[in-house]
This record gives sequence, C-alpha cells and structure tokens, in this order.
Amino acid sequence: MKKSGCEGAAGPAGPVRQCMGCRSHLSKRDLLRVVRPPEGAVSLDAAGKAPGRGVYLCRNAACFKRVRKSRALERSLKSPVPEEVFAAIEALLTGDGS
Ligand SMILES: [Zn+2]
Repeated sequence: MKKSGCEGAAGPAGPVRQCMGCRSHLSKRDLLRVVRPPEGAVSLDAAGKAPGRGVYLCRNAACFKRVRKSRALERSLKSPVPEEVFAAIEALLTGDGS
C-alpha cells in the first residue's frame, strides 16, 4: 500500500507542482525549477532533478515578472537569487539565444 503525501503525488500526467507566480498546479514538465542546493548559489535547474530546495515557475512571462518584482523566489528559498538566474529564466521564456 502506497501512501502519497501532497508532495510527490503523481497523477496520470506525472508529478504536479505549484507555480510561484500564479499558484496554478501544473505538470512538472511545464514548469521551470529554481533550486537552492545544499551548497552553492541558487540556480536554474533545467533538468528538475538537482538536490536541494526547489521552487517552480510556469513558462509564462507575466508570472516570471511578478515573482521577480515581489521577490517571491528569494522569500521562498530564503536565499538571494543571482541576477544570472533571472536572466536565464527570461531567456528561456522569451526564446532568446535559440
Ligand atoms: Zn504561473
């Protein structure tokens, strides 16, 4: 018998996480993960598998702008978020560098 907590519950579409910006619950693969590893600086976790505390953002520029402005990532991770992390997320969302 397998018990599922609220974290790690997997529906038919796979694990679901909440976007920091709009509070929508989305499939992990539709979200960007920002992780604060046990050691080192906060970074964008493209594979979604890095160890550490992670927060999620949907691929929506409006959500990104909102959390950037409100500093929701910093508050949730309890750590400063380097400018290059925001730049990397922005590049992914806007399709820069492709
Ligand atoms: Zn969102």
